[in-house]
Amino acid sequence: MTFRTTAFVAVVCFALVALDCWNSWHSRQAELQQMEAAASNLARAMAQHADDAIKKTDIMLVGMVERIEHDGTDSAAISRLRKMLANYVAELPQLDALHIYDSEGNWVANSRNTPPQNLNNAGREYFVFHRTHEDRGPHIGVPVRSRTNGKLLIPVSRRINDADGRFAGVALATIDIDFFNRFYTSLDIGEAGAVALVSESGTMMTRRPFGDAMVGRDMRETELFRAYLAQGPAAVAYIESAQDGVTRLNSFRRLAHYPLFVAAALSKNEILAVWWRDTLRHTAGVLFLMSIIGLVGWRLIKQMELRSKTEAQLRRARDALETLNATLNTLAMEDGLTGLANRRQFDVTLDSEFRRAAREASTLALILIDVDCFKQYNDIYGHAAGDECLRSIGRIIADLAARRPGDLAARYGGEEMAVLLPNTEVANAASLAERIRLAVRDLQIVHAGTTEGFVTLSAGVEACTPEPAQGHPKELIEAADMALYAAKAQGRNRVCTARPLNFDLAAAPHAPWPAS
Ligand code: GH3
Ligand code: MG
Ligand code: MG
Repeated sequence: MTFRTTAFVAVVCFALVALDCWNSWHSRQAELQQMEAAASNLARAMAQHADDAIKKTDIMLVGMVERIEHDGTDSAAISRLRKMLANYVAELPQLDALHIYDSEGNWVANSRNTPPQNLNNAGREYFVFHRTHEDRGPHIGVPVRSRTNGKLLIPVSRRINDADGRFAGVALATIDIDFFNRFYTSLDIGEAGAVALVSESGTMMTRRPFGDAMVGRDMRETELFRAYLAQGPAAVAYIESAQDGVTRLNSFRRLAHYPLFVAAALSKNEILAVWWRDTLRHTAGVLFLMSIIGLVGWRLIKQMELRSKTEAQLRRARDALETLNATLNTLAMEDGLTGLANRRQFDVTLDSEFRRAAREASTLALILIDVDCFKQYNDIYGHAAGDECLRSIGRIIADLAARRPGDLAARYGGEEMAVLLPNTEVANAASLAERIRLAVRDLQIVHAGTTEGFVTLSAGVEACTPEPAQGHPKELIEAADMALYAAKAQGRNRVCTARPLNFDLAAAPHAPWPAS
């Protein structure tokens, strides 16, 4: 029982922990899934933002190239062009400046009022690219620092051809990196979140957290770039940052029209911060609940142990009492010296058997036995020897009489014994008395005070069939006593009946005796 209760408490506690773990695990997965969706939306917004900014810029470049190729570069055309460029820049917040270079890399025009005269851009990456590539599409170059205002810029450019299709110069738009930074700063990405704009060739355009040194950095060997290459244009990956060791959930997305991609990264720890708080709170609750269940269970088990211990003690006490009771019962009904029934039991049994005999119209016989000259025996051999003699006589009586369930041999008092025999005729009772007498004499207990020289006894026998509601057990005793008295009077060591028998008892002591 204690084991089962302990097992039950353990199972309840285990179920609680398992349920809490399962619950926490699921809410963690849900949290991460939600954050993956949020990061992915963030990347989508960033990609859209960058794509729009570049697209609008590129549309202007297309217009500029078309104009130069059509109108040429005479001073009137240039002057008109310059105004137009200034208007464009004023319209688009992302634009730092627009420039037109000739085939040598010298300035033809730009959006500023006072273009620098002595600067040559032939060495810039975008210029070299267009000079060496016939492709007429847009080119997004590596970030550069402006020689005129020191800003970090992303160059977007297109090639200008002459009428013969030869390289005639470059139309260049520079996008202020700060334009992206402002947008990225406005994004809610937490304390440890990060976002980046990277070219597919592996150059960092800008990022948050921003650092000058990061712009233009080669990203090809980074985990981030490799993950992008491996997973395609729109994907999610968990990457541990080589810079700060923080594991982040990264969502990549390629720009729709340009060879760039954005990455939005949210710190895993920050994503799970709320989950952790909830989990710790749950765990504390579960631990508290478990300790209460454990405590209550422990007390219950202790109480059960105590109860079963008390029950065992009670059982033992009850058994001891029952044994004691049985002993007391025996003692109360038994004669201490001879082991025969005592007087009390004799009286009770005589009473009930007398009534039964009356009820059933059966014969109840009684033998009263008295040891001959016993006073003398005591006087000669001592009281202890007298007791031993009584014990021996008691054994004989117990052996010979009381063989049937209803028979009762009792110590009537002093050295007198009585045998109660239900359903027994007087002749049979006398016969039994005779056998007892002979058996005792055959013990040959020396008694100098008798004529025989041994201990002998006398017996008086009577039997009656009581009339219903008439007669009294006392009368049966008196009759048997009278017979005993007669036996004594006739010289002791004999059996007498109250009424004469129709056979000689001494000649046939084993005469009729009903089968038991
Ligand atoms: P009688 O042949 O007439 O019966 O002579 P008796 O000496 O037996 O006479 P009586 O019945 O008067 O004496 C009984 C004696 O039995 C008296 C007593 O000393 C002795 N006696 C009675 N009970 C016990 C007992 O428990 N132990 C011993 N040792 N003697 C007992
Ligand atoms: Mg006597
Ligand atoms: Mg006597």
